[in-house]
Amino acid sequence: MSTTRFIVVLALSLTTCATFAQVFPAQSVRPTYATGGADQTNVPKLEHFDANLVDKALDPCDDFYKYSCSKWMTANPIPADQVYWSTGSGLELWNEGVLRDTLEAASKNEASRSAVQQKIGDYWAACMDESGIEAAGLKPLQSELARVAALKSKKDITLEIAHLQHTFPGAWQPGDNESSSALFGFTGQQDYDNASMVVAQIDQAGLSLPNRDYYLNTDDKSKEILTKYRAHLQKMFVLVGESESQGAGDAGTVIELETALAKAQMDNVKRRDPKNVNNKMSLAQIRTLAPSIDWDGYLKAVRAPASDHYIVTSPDFFRAEEKLLNDHPLEHWQTYLRWQVIHRAAPYLTKAIVDENFDFFAHTLAGAEKQRPRWRRCVAAADRDLGDALGQAYVDRAFSPESKARTIEMVHSIEAALNSDIQSLSWMSAATKEQANVKLKQIEDKIGYPSRWRDYSTVKIARDSYLNNVAQATSFEFERWVAKIGKPVDRAEWTMTPPTINAYYDPQLNTINFPAGILQPPYFDSAKDDAVNFGAIGMIIGHEIIHGFDDQGRKFDAKGNLRDWWTADDAKQYDERGKCISNEYTQPVPDAGEGVKQNGLLTQGEDTADNGGIRLALAALEASLKKQGKSLDDKGDDGWTYRQRFFLSNAYSWCANVRPQIARLIVTTDPHSMPVFRINNVISNMSEFGQAFNCKAGQKMVRANACRVW
Ligand SMILES: [Zn+2]
Repeated sequence: MSTTRFIVVLALSLTTCATFAQVFPAQSVRPTYATGGADQTNVPKLEHFDANLVDKALDPCDDFYKYSCSKWMTANPIPADQVYWSTGSGLELWNEGVLRDTLEAASKNEASRSAVQQKIGDYWAACMDESGIEAAGLKPLQSELARVAALKSKKDITLEIAHLQHTFPGAWQPGDNESSSALFGFTGQQDYDNASMVVAQIDQAGLSLPNRDYYLNTDDKSKEILTKYRAHLQKMFVLVGESESQGAGDAGTVIELETALAKAQMDNVKRRDPKNVNNKMSLAQIRTLAPSIDWDGYLKAVRAPASDHYIVTSPDFFRAEEKLLNDHPLEHWQTYLRWQVIHRAAPYLTKAIVDENFDFFAHTLAGAEKQRPRWRRCVAAADRDLGDALGQAYVDRAFSPESKARTIEMVHSIEAALNSDIQSLSWMSAATKEQANVKLKQIEDKIGYPSRWRDYSTVKIARDSYLNNVAQATSFEFERWVAKIGKPVDRAEWTMTPPTINAYYDPQLNTINFPAGILQPPYFDSAKDDAVNFGAIGMIIGHEIIHGFDDQGRKFDAKGNLRDWWTADDAKQYDERGKCISNEYTQPVPDAGEGVKQNGLLTQGEDTADNGGIRLALAALEASLKKQGKSLDDKGDDGWTYRQRFFLSNAYSWCANVRPQIARLIVTTDPHSMPVFRINNVISNMSEFGQAFNCKAGQKMVRANACRVW
């Protein structure tokens, strides 16, 4: 499935919902700037904010990120198996440690196990059984390859797509912005114009590299990556039994087809505007759009309920795909599908295949020097496939009712800060202010974990086949989303598992969602005072709330309908302010290599959320201090003012070391800015920061042309 669901994640680590399987879950276009300790002998360690970690030899008004982070960065180099290492990395390992304990305890093959323990325990046992996987060799793959070899006509291709979507993850993960399914993605999607109903959505797809730029860019670095991808394709074909020359020819066919699909795709800046993807069609129109795809056979195969209409995210993509299906013989498509099978199954097969998959997707593309230990890969896969079952155990152990209550209190005070902010805006008319407040009041705050746990009773998990367990869970999840078509929207749905270190705003549900996994140090620290917590998790809460009012979120109303509630003049005023942000963030990214620039149009929503979110958090802190009879400029026990501690804690929560390869990938594919910009750009737009550290006009952290939307 796949979808352009406009969920806006925080992407601290770009986990996106379990986007961490392999360092690069080969099956997912979402990278994993994953984090966490290097190997299992490391003792999990949570990082706690300490204001004395700053480098006092530096000037905070010159480079606040360096001032706050350079000591931490020097003391915390990136472990060999990681591509991104941040102050949240200790938390990730700690969370995984909790899950691992749960999985190991459940894996003891005892009759007293509950049904849920049997599933998570046997899933874990099968994943960790490397010798069993080695002994099975290519056997688990044979029936899949035989299916592709047996295709008789191009019409059969469609049914094979349906089968792959039922078998291998990556067709779609909740929250993903792009499908990495073969040829096209399909899922149930909340209707843009009637937020109470789910309709069918058909999305562009078909690539194996992170996005279309990797095929189409012509700079030397891009060409080098494509050459290495070709070599990887050949090696993988050889590993499943092809000759060197056949492997080379097949690699060429795959690259030719994927490049053509990349050319046909809508780019990720255009996809950010919901109007561009909300193309409604009838089934008859879809049949005409791409007659070579057997739509009726497909919908029957995936048991899709009748849909009021179909959203086709990118009609031009399907026009081009139709031509491609006609121009290329069946054998080319069989090669493409054979690659899809090998590629998607790779993480679950023998060491030689896992290693080669790592070598290209994690080493070459992301910069990892070695693989994460097996146990961490198995924890990530279990979280992806049986997340709610594992999540219950995580919540029991790691998320207290007190933490939940304090978080909710913070959320309410930050929402109150936005309410005051809206009232005080000089550029917005009373009519639009009223609508904005209606929307703000209706935001649903989901904190920690879902109100109802998913029932996995129909998912069959056995101890003897890892690949088969993955297929069982994939099929369950794919069908669960397809079954929503034609039904009222389930507003209780979460698209992140409870241990996830991330958060999101969903404009179509008008909800903010904070999994228990991020409500831990260094983001939320129950042992710390308000200044520290508002600086870290408070800013993140503000960020998610602002997403409801960024350049994308503002196009949806309180109920989640794509409806314009702005006066024309207010919209114009908004766009001018948004342009200030997108211009500011279109800037060089030295970490990613010479000449690489961030695209401020791609990151505009996230940057707007950072820009406004931190202001809301600071205002909420001020209100909280006031209740205690204190002010922002009072000093705490450690000699820093609360205002200073707020900014220091905020910067600390984003400190990260980043490999150049992943920096390049972030710039190309990720709507989030690099960590250094998430601090320095944000604070240099704020006079409150200059006030905190006595910065003067003309210093780097005092921007002459400061941007502000909210
Ligand atoms: Zn965000």
